[in-house]
Amino acid sequence: MIGEVALALLGEESGAVIADTRGAVWYWLVRPGTAADWSLHRVLAQGAFVVVPGRERKGGPGLHWRVPPSGARSLTDPDRLHAALMAANRAVKCCYRCDRLTSDPVFVADVHVASGADRAVYACRSCAERLSERPDVLGEVAAGRRALEGRAR
Ligand SMILES: [Zn+2]
Repeated sequence: MIGEVALALLGEESGAVIADTRGAVWYWLVRPGTAADWSLHRVLAQGAFVVVPGRERKGGPGLHWRVPPSGARSLTDPDRLHAALMAANRAVKCCYRCDRLTSDPVFVADVHVASGADRAVYACRSCAERLSERPDVLGEVAAGRRALEGRAR
């Protein structure tokens, strides 16, 4: 999902993109070494390899070109790609109810934790529409914690 959002943000500025639907991994191609200092997303270093789909493989399932290479548009500008990935990473949230990623999150609540590292809780649009009243987020967090610890109460 982050890849879809990043690709939408890049638009025509995206170079070729290889998608592997089985591993939910997308590969943008950048000039070697230009993403070596990134910390946000996995960057394949020197010596790593990527299996490249045949030119005619333009759809899944499996390995295919999400954006096929074209002469002048195979590599992506690393600065623009980094900015798009950062923005996509901020835009995509995990729904606290169904655990699915959503690019259309609905803010539900702030959860205050003892460590002081409060965090926002989001729901996907579908789950948010089913909420008839403000959820007891703290109660659900406590229930989840009890479930992890194997306790009933
Ligand atoms: Zn959901």
